[in-house]
Amino acid sequence: MTGKKPTRRQFLKQAAGAAAVGSGGAALLHRVRAERGGQVWAASAGTPQTPCTRLFPHLAVFHGPVNVGVLLDGQGKALLIDCGDGRVEEVLPSLGVQAVDTILCTHHHRDQACGAARFTQKGAKLFVPAAERPYFEKPETYWQDLKHRWNYYIFHPHRLMLVEGLPVAGECKEDQQIAWGPARIRALATPGHTDGAVSFLVEVDGRRVIFCGDLIYDHGQVWELYSLQKGFRRGKRQISDYHGFMGAQWELKDSLDRLRKAKPDLLIPSHGRIMEKPSEAIDALTARMDACYDKYVAISALRHYFPELFEEFKGRPGHMPLRPGLPVPDCLRHIGTTWILVSQQKKAALVMDCGGPGIVKTLQQMQQKGELGPIEGLWITHYHNDHVGGVAEFQKTFDCPCITDEHLAAVLTQPIGWRLPCISPDVIRVHRPTKHGESWTWREFKLTAFFFPGQTLYHSALLVEQGDLKMFFVGDSHTPAGIDDYCAQNRNWLGQDVGFDRCLALVEQLQPTHMFNCHVDVAFSFRTEDIRFMRANLAEREKLFGQLMPWDHPNYGMDESWVRAFPYEQKTKSGQGAALEVVLTNHSAHAQRAAVRAVLPTAWGGGATDWAEAEIPAKTEHGVRLRIPIPASAQAGRYVLPIDVRFGPWDLPQLAETVLQVE
Ligand SMILES: [Zn+2]
Ligand SMILES: [Zn+2]
Repeated sequence: MTGKKPTRRQFLKQAAGAAAVGSGGAALLHRVRAERGGQVWAASAGTPQTPCTRLFPHLAVFHGPVNVGVLLDGQGKALLIDCGDGRVEEVLPSLGVQAVDTILCTHHHRDQACGAARFTQKGAKLFVPAAERPYFEKPETYWQDLKHRWNYYIFHPHRLMLVEGLPVAGECKEDQQIAWGPARIRALATPGHTDGAVSFLVEVDGRRVIFCGDLIYDHGQVWELYSLQKGFRRGKRQISDYHGFMGAQWELKDSLDRLRKAKPDLLIPSHGRIMEKPSEAIDALTARMDACYDKYVAISALRHYFPELFEEFKGRPGHMPLRPGLPVPDCLRHIGTTWILVSQQKKAALVMDCGGPGIVKTLQQMQQKGELGPIEGLWITHYHNDHVGGVAEFQKTFDCPCITDEHLAAVLTQPIGWRLPCISPDVIRVHRPTKHGESWTWREFKLTAFFFPGQTLYHSALLVEQGDLKMFFVGDSHTPAGIDDYCAQNRNWLGQDVGFDRCLALVEQLQPTHMFNCHVDVAFSFRTEDIRFMRANLAEREKLFGQLMPWDHPNYGMDESWVRAFPYEQKTKSGQGAALEVVLTNHSAHAQRAAVRAVLPTAWGGGATDWAEAEIPAKTEHGVRLRIPIPASAQAGRYVLPIDVRFGPWDLPQLAETVLQVE
């Protein structure tokens, strides 16, 4: 089951190591220019025609899944800047390299360094950003700490973490000078893509080149946006990563400014194309990020919760004014994140969400005081722990059915299978998973359940009708300020009839008299013109974010779970296999070929499973089955197995991961 069997299909072709390596000097700079308009690099998409560009006599760049800088001393030794999955080794002989003696890493993401062991085992010394040293040396500390797995609101460091430690020889700090062979190298602290990232200014052969990791992808573009999800401060208000959509953008822009001031001739990113006009590339990126962020703030629900974060945007044209609050109808109570629908018959209650055991106590007290009669149902809006943290206690205390949308029920009943922000590990019994649009009568109310992929992709909404009242319970998806998409990790898809476009179309169709958010005390409503305004904003965003990133749809760069293992985590036994699906979301407008395999732990002999392939229709999620062999000698423990992904033109080593608890 292990091994790296190549397949016939072209999209699976590896960058051929023996292919032409350029011959140095100005002619090659010319080729960089020529290829910009035509064939794309491997680090930007698919298989390159030439895997390597010899920029100058002593500097080459290998275009694998990431760009790897290869400094040459002319006497058989090389220094690598990042090393990707290690495939660069294949071209080293044609560059006259017999040994790699040093590797410098720009940041800790595993696509940058997962191939480093093959060089360090042969004596190469690994130098890493000082602030990220523990992520290279002891990544297991991150993986074994369950605060990164359950109820988490912090995404730094990111889960794109190595799974096995590497020997670190030294650290790179701000302004550190490194003399190596014919080159002088200076480290620049350039946080943004990651908190501790550094760039390397290399002076060699009379030229100045900066290797900048993933700070920028190409002229006006970044590789992805989910790494920029980060808490930030405005005045006295400090918010967590969870609330900080594009919150690392200011650090990123400052870092890009530092690079500009260093006046490089070339800017070489990890993913993307070599930039010959760094200053213009940076200006274009800053302008696009500002345009995207403005569109995001214009209808952000967060303006309701934290207006002080967005002072500078107040009154801007194109920003939706906040809707006024409405009085709450008499049949409702609000405690914590819970709305309670109370019938006139026996004061019977339908409870919506239960965020903590305190809610259960309050419900019992309300019953004792005669404010509430029997509790006859529990509706759940979504899986975030502040909405389900009291459900276990609720289900012990009250004997009534739990009802929710079928998509959400899949998360609630098997949380170990999912990796999502704020997810609670509590297993919830769902008695009635509902279909989209399913109606029933409870007491004097007509209830209709909906799939409502708003604040998260796994979210429900409930319409409650009685007389002239049309009350729509939208969980956390809307506030009077607009839409709640401030956490990219919740999977807010852009596009027609998905994500918030789908939710808003439904609101437009239903025309509720009142809308309710779990965290907002008052009711509110959107007029048809508000809804159309928000949908138009989302349609513009799809274009703007599309220009900001290289993918053929921006969701690839915004939805970090577009490739995910299901189950994400499972229990298994040594000597047995484990089965899982790698679920890929094809956000493209056309079918895509995909192949996936799991990388096996060194302790199990290393290697990888065979590739499993599929063709995935446009705009669909599709599971590709993998079977993972576990040797009988495997020790008990929690193992993280990276998943290699090839998708359309993209070669994406270790993009996702699965966790196996071996007993
Ligand atoms: Zn990265
Ligand atoms: Zn929520």
